[in-house]
Amino acid sequence: MDSVGVAAAAPDAGPGPAWQSKCPWGTPSTTSISCSLADVMSEQLAKELQLEEENAAFPEVVAAAEGPFITGENIDTSSDLMLAQMLQMEFDREYDAQLRREEKKINGDSKVSISFENYRKVHPYDSDSSEDEVDWQDTRHDPYRADKPTTTPKRGFIGKGKDITTKHDEVVCGRKNTARMENFAPEFQVGDGIGMDLKLSNQVFNALKQHAYSEERRSARLHEKKEHSTAEKAVDPKTRLLLYKMVNSGMLETITGCISTGKESVVFHAYGGKSATEDKVIPPECAIKVFKTTLNEFKNRDKYIKDDYRFKDRFSKLNPRKIIRMWAEKEMHNLTRMQNAGIPCPQVVILKKHVLVMSFIGQDQVPAPKLKDVTLSSEDMKKAYYQILNMMQQLYRECNLVHADLSEYNMLWHDGKVWLIDVSQSVEPTHPHGLEFLFRDCRNVSQFFQKGGVAEALNERELFNAVSGLNITADNEVDFQAEIEALEKMNEDHVQNHGKKLSTFSSDGDPPIYDE
Ligand code: ADP
Ligand code: MN
Repeated sequence: MDSVGVAAAAPDAGPGPAWQSKCPWGTPSTTSISCSLADVMSEQLAKELQLEEENAAFPEVVAAAEGPFITGENIDTSSDLMLAQMLQMEFDREYDAQLRREEKKINGDSKVSISFENYRKVHPYDSDSSEDEVDWQDTRHDPYRADKPTTTPKRGFIGKGKDITTKHDEVVCGRKNTARMENFAPEFQVGDGIGMDLKLSNQVFNALKQHAYSEERRSARLHEKKEHSTAEKAVDPKTRLLLYKMVNSGMLETITGCISTGKESVVFHAYGGKSATEDKVIPPECAIKVFKTTLNEFKNRDKYIKDDYRFKDRFSKLNPRKIIRMWAEKEMHNLTRMQNAGIPCPQVVILKKHVLVMSFIGQDQVPAPKLKDVTLSSEDMKKAYYQILNMMQQLYRECNLVHADLSEYNMLWHDGKVWLIDVSQSVEPTHPHGLEFLFRDCRNVSQFFQKGGVAEALNERELFNAVSGLNITADNEVDFQAEIEALEKMNEDHVQNHGKKLSTFSSDGDPPIYDE
């Protein structure tokens, strides 16, 4: 019987209960070594034991980290308070996990169950139990590619003749209400209503819904308070713990400091360390993009993700923290697609929750300059232009992506070529606003190079057609934009009617290749 769930996976958990191996303090002496008093007092031995325990606590860890814990001016690691908070948080989570297991043990298969909910230390919204941890480290599989939207029949009934059942049928309706509870925030425990064929009346369902929402708001408020109480500009304790683990595992050597603080993310520089697995090489220098868990900034980006069918099903069911993880996930998958197409961009090293580690574009801690900050010779400028034109076409055709924030701010000049970064908001061309995003990208690129004196630079409309392979003939911006929106609408109608998207927009054959 496996009553301990995931923790049982820890390989050298020893004879103690397996959950202890997840505890930051590890398993109390699993092997009985007899030793002298000198040994007991030895600091060296204590350190070794500590390392051993940490390795057991985080099984992915292989190499022991001798190097400094996160160093650099921007990260204050000397704060005992911070360390204490991190440890306390781990402890609380451990405590809660234990409670959950007790609960499960006592309840067993019984129809009547008890709950220890009120004894929990971490509010459901703050609990990040590793059970639901998804890292998507396996970048070969892009979980969003296969998902196609499904349509529900517009008519409000199923069946024929006598057997017709309308959506007002009490039993059907009751079952539907039960199923709809799954849409409540994931932390809201709804039990197995479907399993026991529970039929909820509308009245009961609505009361429950109301309760779920107010509970969600309450925890969001609590959460917000906590976020704001920690240094807003730096990283919160959870992120710190994640970074700590990366350094501690030896995967990163040192985190040297902050490269950029944006509205939605903070980017750090780090020296790469040793990989836990042979086949993976950690780049000598890494960039760590931390997606901010302060939620406000992400609100205005909803449109990029909400309408993206790859995420549609998941979006409505997720709490804000998970949505932020999705941004990080999205950036990872988009970077991987680009990498596969040979587009110069950072290489993904690892994704942990909302923290994405990738290769660093630049050298000796100095990030490559953005295109807007670098002065190029006219020859390089022309070279950069054609390279970008190519990359935009590759992105569209091979990666099936539109960057959606392409400008001289998100292109770096390094090693005599342009590198694309910042692709968390990139979408597929058939996204309801995908073509509008592409047009905006084209406008940015076109204007930048025309101002930069590249005589060959296409105007935004020509560029749009060249990238998309569409043949929009309007000769002014307003009409052009109207045609774009009409195409998007056509695609949406197609989705409504056929339950799936057009694989691509119809085009007059392959787009022309523009080259030097
Ligand atoms: P934001 O959403 O904050 O704009 P970006 O991904 O554009 O996030 O990163 C912000 C800045 O951090 C970039 O403009 C760039 O200067 C730097 N940066 C990001 N990723 C890397 C990287 N892989 N290598 C070097 N610098 C990077
Ligand atoms: Mn950016």
